[in-house]
Amino acid sequence: MRTPFICANWKMYKTVAETVKYVKELRGLVKDVADVEIVVAPPFTAVHAAAEAARNSNVLIAAQDCYWEREGAFTGEVAPGMIREAGAEYVIVGHSERRTLFGETDATVNRKTVAAFAAGLTPIVCIGETLDQRERNETLEVLDRQIKAGLDGLTGEQLGLLVIAYEPVWAIGTGRNATPAQAAEAHGHIRQRLRQWFGGEAAEQCHVIYGGSVKVDNIRDLVSQPDVDGALVGGASLDIRSFVEIVSRARPTGV
Ligand code: PEP
Repeated sequence: MRTPFICANWKMYKTVAETVKYVKELRGLVKDVADVEIVVAPPFTAVHAAAEAARNSNVLIAAQDCYWEREGAFTGEVAPGMIREAGAEYVIVGHSERRTLFGETDATVNRKTVAAFAAGLTPIVCIGETLDQRERNETLEVLDRQIKAGLDGLTGEQLGLLVIAYEPVWAIGTGRNATPAQAAEAHGHIRQRLRQWFGGEAAEQCHVIYGGSVKVDNIRDLVSQPDVDGALVGGASLDIRSFVEIVSRARPTGV
């Protein structure tokens, strides 16, 4: 049984001061939630402060990206080891905004994923089709390609720890979420491929979460689908009340 996993992706929102205020309030509001893994991904500048504010709580911190080298002349990049040292446990890799706006490819996603594991971070690898690809009936093929290339070389043990975020690009920040049936189809397919390529045990352990216009109103229907293990929440995570309500509705007990 996989524990539901809910991650707030703040994108390029919130200062250090706003982050600390939010995380301190959040840890108090979710202190009794033992049946959901709760992660917050602030901008790089606030990762350390967020980790300090979350210390000794059930709130964990993620970065939104990383580079694959340990150090070097790579102006503007941040190494996985630096992120780990700053106190994060997770790193988002291959978000569709990075793929479309910043040239991320399956090959760079793979390098980052491998490097994140090597530095002791758990990657949250994002995959998903564009609207064009869905309309051309290429969704499952695109997912296969992204999984195969993006996760190439991972061991079964690493796969078991990994979080995959299925985020149909047409649903991100658009207010148009995938229906529970569309999510179930994609998640079921992903799980089947993971079984085939990494073995049954690892595939059962890997979290496959959904992302794309998740809100208070739709989280319960989404996480009640058999292979949907939680959510990556963008816009609706910026407001703490809405994020806490999403966490609460994702609880297996449905509190
Ligand atoms: C995201 O940033 O990964 C995301 C899913 O955004 P939103 O919830 O705003 O669609």
